[in-house]
Amino acid sequence: MANFYTDIPELKYHLNNPIMKRICELKERNYRDKDEFDYAPLDFEDAIDSYNKVLEITGEITGEIIAPNAEGVDEEGPHCANGRVEYASGTKQNLDAMVKAGLNGMTMPREFGGLNFPITPYTMCAEIVAAADAGFGNIWSLQDCIETLYEFGTPDQHSRFIPRVCQGETMSMDLTEPDAGSDLQAVMLKATYSEKDGCWLLNGVKRFITNGDADIHLVLARSEEGTRDGRGLSMFIYDKRQGGVDVRRIENKLGIHGSPTCELVYKNAKAELCGDRKLGLIKYVMALMNGARLGIAAQSVGLSQAAYNEGLAYAKDRKQFGKAIIEFPAVYDMLSIMKGKLDAGRALLYQTARYVDIYKALEDIARERKLTPEERQEQKQYAKLADSLTPLAKGMNSEYANQNAYDCIQIHGGSGFMMEYACQRIYRDARITSIYEGTTQLQTVAAIRYVTNGSYIATIREFEKIPCSPDMEPLMSRLKKMADKFEASTNAVKETQDQEFLDFTARRLMEMAADCIMAHLLIQDASRAPELFSKSARVYLSYAEAEVVKHTNYIQHIDKEDLAFFKK
Ligand SMILES: Cc1cc2nc3c(=O)[nH]c(=O)nc-3n(C[C@H](O)[C@H](O)[C@H](O)COP(=O)(O)OP(=O)(O)OC[C@H]3O[C@@H](n4cnc5c(N)ncnc54)[C@H](O)[C@@H]3O)c2cc1C
Repeated sequence: MANFYTDIPELKYHLNNPIMKRICELKERNYRDKDEFDYAPLDFEDAIDSYNKVLEITGEITGEIIAPNAEGVDEEGPHCANGRVEYASGTKQNLDAMVKAGLNGMTMPREFGGLNFPITPYTMCAEIVAAADAGFGNIWSLQDCIETLYEFGTPDQHSRFIPRVCQGETMSMDLTEPDAGSDLQAVMLKATYSEKDGCWLLNGVKRFITNGDADIHLVLARSEEGTRDGRGLSMFIYDKRQGGVDVRRIENKLGIHGSPTCELVYKNAKAELCGDRKLGLIKYVMALMNGARLGIAAQSVGLSQAAYNEGLAYAKDRKQFGKAIIEFPAVYDMLSIMKGKLDAGRALLYQTARYVDIYKALEDIARERKLTPEERQEQKQYAKLADSLTPLAKGMNSEYANQNAYDCIQIHGGSGFMMEYACQRIYRDARITSIYEGTTQLQTVAAIRYVTNGSYIATIREFEKIPCSPDMEPLMSRLKKMADKFEASTNAVKETQDQEFLDFTARRLMEMAADCIMAHLLIQDASRAPELFSKSARVYLSYAEAEVVKHTNYIQHIDKEDLAFFKK
């Protein structure tokens, strides 16, 4: 039987990254839980061993239950009756298996019933679940909304809500409205404080809400009457047990059929404030979305892996002109680039997850005691790195998932267009990844400041100082020239002092930064584990080099006057 964890040795490699030692030390507060909880790790080795075991269990459930159910769930989908959602039967089985295995509320402290997992191994679980069924991945991984409640909620809210999520209750994040999609400042769902009820009442409509009939919702709503921008928004917790929110309908979608996308009607729904008023969008939803973007990056890597697996298996099996089609250069060219993008995107995903882990663990420690100046410095440094890499991880991996799903169908030829093969579901499921949690264009809006303020080039130049294996040295010198091109293009655009031209070239500049960063990460991986990564490093570097040259030439030659025509 397939095990979606042990079958992919690259995952274990990332789990054993040297930074994990620091992460475990911080997350486990020097292993203080060992005297209180018999399942708490005794030391670093024990912690890694426990992550490994939980990943194996997740890999087994995905291989034996979630993946075999995926096709049935895709066909059956969820149903809506009397304002409530009923999951597809396969989804119920999946959820039941995950809850019984104790895989909910994974990152939460043990005192609430969680496993106190760092974000990195949790993200690995999210990746492998998505590889089996990306739609189910949404329902299960929305548990990470609890991170935001943990970060900004009160101790009383912690004790009431976190144990429920650890026991398997589900969550949703209710942000989008018909007139507020990418622009969440336009949210109008109304929150009014009722003296009579002693709580807030929510009224209005949300649309496109994944798992909209969840037990616990985080809701962005307008609490400040008369305001129209983000400063009038607060974040609320809505508990389904209170009633007041109905599902008007479930959307009929292209993909992720198992994941119910709901239109919600709030009628005097009782809710409680999470954190302070007016910081809903500016602070809390930004944190919530950063976590969710990492989640979509993981979902994308899972889909990329699934696309690669399907493409490879078919190419080995299918014979034309008297031989397996994998022997044709045109076919193995596609497969090698798919694998290169997969390994590069995954390297970026887990590098980002590790940075998030360090700064979040330090942030959490700061709630217990004052950080030392060194710790404060460390926290700031990793928070900045995590913030700058998150839009790249989400933006690039979601685009790669789409590209890999496209190539997977291409490898299948006409069969790829038929509903019998898994590749059509992967292709449909992948399509949403570059749209929700902020489209790729919005990831670019988030990333461009790190292009112009020099953060990315500084990260790249730091990576250049890390020694690589002799085998990787020729790649490293080519990569330095790629970084020079990225820097020169950035400077050329900045020198025009033309904001519109900067916005126009932003996506290309972001991609160039990401290409260089991912190539560096792969060179580091190939230096440590050549048997796993040296082929991908070579292929990806050539691919990324060609991309950087392409973007450089485009930026250099595009005529601003021509562009003006297309605005009309
Ligand atoms: C299946 C599904 C599940 C979803 N789940 C959730 C959920 O759980 N919770 C939730 O709150 N929301 C959810 N959403 C909503 C999702 O996050 C939004 O659809 C997404 O953010 C885009 O908003 P929009 O659809 O209004 O598109 P628009 O904002 O109208 O965008 C249309 C186009 O304009 C571009 N654009 C817009 N603004 C800019 C800009 N400033 N610069 C450059 N380009 C721009 C976009 O990139 C896009 O190409 C979900 C959506 C779908 C389809």
